[in-house]
Amino acid sequence: MIKSPRGTSDVLPPESAKWIYLEGIVREVARRYNFDEIRLPTFEHSELFSRTVGETTDIVEKEMYTFKDKTGRDLTLRPEGTAGVARAFLEHGMASGPLPRKLYYLGSMFRYERPQAGRYREHRQFGVEVFGSLSPYSDVEVITLAMDIAEELGLTGTELVLNSIGCPKCRGAYREELIAYLSPNIDEMCQDCRSRLTHNPLRALDCKNERCKVLVKDAPASLDYLCDECREHWDLLREILTSVGIKYSVDKSLVRGIDYYTRTVFELKWPPLGPAGSTLCGGGRYDGLIEELGGPPVPGVGFGMGLERMLLANEKGEKPIKAGGEIDVFIVCPKAGGGQEDDLRREAHLLELARSLRKRGLACDFDPLRRSMKAQMKQADRMNARFVVILGEDEFRSGSVAVRSMREGWQKTVPLGEVLASIEEAGQNG
Ligand SMILES: [Zn+2]
Ligand SMILES: [Zn+2]
Repeated sequence: MIKSPRGTSDVLPPESAKWIYLEGIVREVARRYNFDEIRLPTFEHSELFSRTVGETTDIVEKEMYTFKDKTGRDLTLRPEGTAGVARAFLEHGMASGPLPRKLYYLGSMFRYERPQAGRYREHRQFGVEVFGSLSPYSDVEVITLAMDIAEELGLTGTELVLNSIGCPKCRGAYREELIAYLSPNIDEMCQDCRSRLTHNPLRALDCKNERCKVLVKDAPASLDYLCDECREHWDLLREILTSVGIKYSVDKSLVRGIDYYTRTVFELKWPPLGPAGSTLCGGGRYDGLIEELGGPPVPGVGFGMGLERMLLANEKGEKPIKAGGEIDVFIVCPKAGGGQEDDLRREAHLLELARSLRKRGLACDFDPLRRSMKAQMKQADRMNARFVVILGEDEFRSGSVAVRSMREGWQKTVPLGEVLASIEEAGQNG
């Protein structure tokens, strides 16, 4: 038997209804913030990611699904969303359009990593990007957007963690300090940190290796090396957050594992998910990204949010989404024992009635196999039908049907032509 590849997951009904709801929430919150959706290919030229995410990052070094197509092009299933959005932003001339430009995406990302709770090799991600604003107001806007989504999903008590990792102007001096600090103990650090010391020393700060963690505990912090512009941005960002009553904490070791980040980096955490997996979303500024891709200097800020993780959190939160599996009307119409012609007329009426209810927006179903009355009532139960309409032989002959409310328990006989009206009337009352 062929199974789905390791690290992928099938979303089956009724669970899929939760996804529809969740995707509705993120789209709705994005709409309220005036972000427009952008839909992009799931694979890109590998170079896009090595140039933006960074040659020496975990993502590019270890986690990408890279392949050659039949003409030998080097392609990669996108491991994250921002690089592709930036590529499209530039390719379609948005840099010379009205700015800021606010875009969101929703789709699969691919990373070859050890599968664990809420983390898959193909996972669904929602993300937003603001291009063309250097203002810390835009940092705050994307942060509150993420917080609003968490709130809509019943996740109270989220924690915002912030850092600033400076810009190319001030990072040089900081890197030197950091390398000088790490060098004496470099032999005690892990292989990754050793090989990255000279070209990506920042990564040592969030290394998961226990020995490395101890060694970098008192390492110099980027915050102490910010240039005047970065300092001003950082101070104003915190001022705005305080003025609108958003609590945050500063984590000097927060660097996010992607090269394109500049200045602000942030994570939104939700502690009930546990210490290892409490991060709901992460993001920051990427003021040099568009230039890196050959475009004009256009600053940007955004975040990416793993949706499997959001669902996992939602299940532990105050407003767990209900799985689907509910319909408005089930029409019970068992096969007749009597005349053939009568039954055909009744069958035609069944189809007509179902279609007219559906056209009125009601989710409606019936048994195409037309099993016994008892079997059909069981089906109606299993589908959680709010109403059952019984097209029985005797009632039909006298031009009427029975309508039963499964929630309230009543049943009444109504003329054939008034089924819809009676359901709509009852539906409005409950
Ligand atoms: Zn700077
Ligand atoms: Zn390390």
